[in-house]
Amino acid sequence: MTSIVRDLLNTLHGEGDTSHSIEPQMQRVLDQLAALEGEPIENLDVTRARAQPTPADAVAALLREQAKSRSPEDLVPGVRSNDRTIAGAAGPLPARVYTPAGAGPFPVVLYFHGGGWVIADKDSYDAGARGLCEAASAVVISVDYRRAPEHRFPAAWDDALAAFDWVVGNARDLNATGQIALAGESAGGNLAVATAIAARNRGNSRVVAVLAVYPVAQTGNDATESYDDSARAKPLNKAMIAWFLDKLLVTPEDKEDTRLDLINADLVGLPPVTIINAEIDPLRSDGEMLEAALKEAGVEVERKLYTGVTHEFFGMAAVVDKARDAQQFAGDRLKRAFARASRQVFNAVLPRQRAQDEVPRAALKAVGFAAKHSFSDLKRFEFEREAAREDEIEIEVLYCGVCHSDIHQIKNEWSNTVYPCVPGHEVVGRVTRIGSAVSRHAVGDLVGVGCMIDSCRHCEPCQSGDENYCEGPNSWLATYNGPMIPAAKAPDKRNSYGRDNTFGGYSNVLVVAEDFALRIPPNLRPEVAAPILCAGVTTYSPLKHWGVKAGDKVGIIGFGGLGDLAAKIALAMGAEVTLFTSTEEKLEEAARLGAKGILETDEDALVAQKGSFDFILSTIPQKHDINPFIPLLKRDRTLCVVGALEPMPPVNNQEVAFHRKNVAGSLIGSLHDTQEILDFCAEHDIGPEIEVIDIEAVNDAIKHVIKGEVRFRYVINMASLA
Ligand code: NDP
Repeated sequence: MTSIVRDLLNTLHGEGDTSHSIEPQMQRVLDQLAALEGEPIENLDVTRARAQPTPADAVAALLREQAKSRSPEDLVPGVRSNDRTIAGAAGPLPARVYTPAGAGPFPVVLYFHGGGWVIADKDSYDAGARGLCEAASAVVISVDYRRAPEHRFPAAWDDALAAFDWVVGNARDLNATGQIALAGESAGGNLAVATAIAARNRGNSRVVAVLAVYPVAQTGNDATESYDDSARAKPLNKAMIAWFLDKLLVTPEDKEDTRLDLINADLVGLPPVTIINAEIDPLRSDGEMLEAALKEAGVEVERKLYTGVTHEFFGMAAVVDKARDAQQFAGDRLKRAFARASRQVFNAVLPRQRAQDEVPRAALKAVGFAAKHSFSDLKRFEFEREAAREDEIEIEVLYCGVCHSDIHQIKNEWSNTVYPCVPGHEVVGRVTRIGSAVSRHAVGDLVGVGCMIDSCRHCEPCQSGDENYCEGPNSWLATYNGPMIPAAKAPDKRNSYGRDNTFGGYSNVLVVAEDFALRIPPNLRPEVAAPILCAGVTTYSPLKHWGVKAGDKVGIIGFGGLGDLAAKIALAMGAEVTLFTSTEEKLEEAARLGAKGILETDEDALVAQKGSFDFILSTIPQKHDINPFIPLLKRDRTLCVVGALEPMPPVNNQEVAFHRKNVAGSLIGSLHDTQEILDFCAEHDIGPEIEVIDIEAVNDAIKHVIKGEVRFRYVINMASLA
């Protein structure tokens, strides 16, 4: 289109902004919009205003002109969408759920469209929400909140908050993690920030980020710099905003309500906010003011101004490069916030007081199976647990795996057992009660508890997400058997957790700090998930730490509970796996998994493997000679022992030094790694080979494990305890 025609259209449909230079791509969209011959909505009634051509129509027209596909699925490949209704404040609301490629679970972005709270809907803002879904790798839910004048202020804000509550309550249905970002464009940008404030006021900490794209941050001042220089801009101008407010407000005083007047709201404590502004937009200065107010409130904020583009540009990624950039920028910011939040979930430095002089809490009657001595069987044992503190949850235990460590502990083979000993650290259960400050889990959630139920939270390892290497005075608090460093061995006889013994998952109920409970992915059966909480993470953590990758050759020594999961995880990582076993019958089982099996006693077979392995993991449950396996490693590679936690026979350092090899150890895994491996197993549809037993069979089961007869993990159905 020539500039002469453009000028003509501008004359016909308004001059538009004259003080900024418009990007050619943006101009083409505006030209299309003008060619659609809409009328200025400020001269229309609401019904006609809602029927006017939109910027999305202009983009579609341009794509048609360019002979390109207008199908949303072609424009943003990989994103699926489906329409549904969700609960609003006064009845159901239409919504569209966008799901990115991949197995999930995904974080959620609750997205509010623009349109001055009067016009527009999820259809006309489809492109922005869809693009955000892809860019943020998040489920995006776009909600059609109630509009004015049928529903004036604050109906839309009430609906936005109700939609937030709905998302919190339906995360599982959405294949979502608990992390939520609030996002919106224009009027919807205002709703995103206002809803974040409302969530903060209620103490809900699930909102981890806010994205406000050219938000309305105030309505009391229409003499800002941008109201002035973009007074006649397209597709939003000053007169339109006045028209919107006329339909929206009940009284002029509503403008002072801090849901509208965000820059005067209490913004302290909000999660990181990203603001996107367009240069040619009456709301540009609103973005600047909101940025300043957030900074003053100490909120982390980043605002990016896109020059040469106008209001509504964000959804124009199909035809405007800067829109694509803006979506990518927004997506990156959200991803960063989600990643950071998931680290914080596990690294939360909460001032939890575990002192001995703490007022005792209400007691919870519990029943389990306990060993009273190193030589005794497990027997029914009734005891009390302290009821959940405000940041703790109570769990009805459904399943608990029988780990070989339980046997070491019951029999005091590590010389540190505190009796009575209620073992069990592969626990899956259902949340039955939550403390008042709990935000990560809800009653009814399926959660897992591994080897730890607390850590000092302050030491360097805890701060960097390695709670399993906690260097606090009592180290981490084990799910059973109390602190890893008991008070008697701690500096100053310190007892930071205020207890000497803890009782594990061979019981009907467990109480745990909310951040030490893991989320069980919906497609993992609870009994299958249980062993992943110890055996899974204990083997995954070193595989990850030593960088096992597709194509690597991995050896697993000892094909028991840990070995079975280690092999499956390494195979799912794309490695070539060899299982070294002392049991001939297991060679076939190895082949069934898609691994190679080698008898540990087959010296020729070992020699044939010399110098070929990238990583070897030993899971043998007692001290053993690893020297026959070190020659199997390539130069610079690692053999890691996780099975034996005791002094081992000396290592032939000639073999190690001459080829700069590493012999290492590793202890369970961090909370972060535990969640990661639960999600990984769900995604790859892998899990341990299990045999579910009743609690009465546990003593026999232990005998079978010692004899190496289990294939490969017993899991106790705790319902049998009733
Ligand atoms: P299992 O008993 O299920 O499996 C161990 C396997 O090792 C057996 O199936 C057997 O496999 C092999 N094995 C057993 N005894 C011997 C032996 N004397 N010599 C050679 N091989 C033997 O135990 P888990 O997998 O549950 O646990 C393994 C070890 O890992 C335990 O000691 C446990 O305490 C430890 N562990 C360590 C953790 C850590 O943080 N580092 C965490 C969790 C557990 P095969 O028949 O193939 O030879």
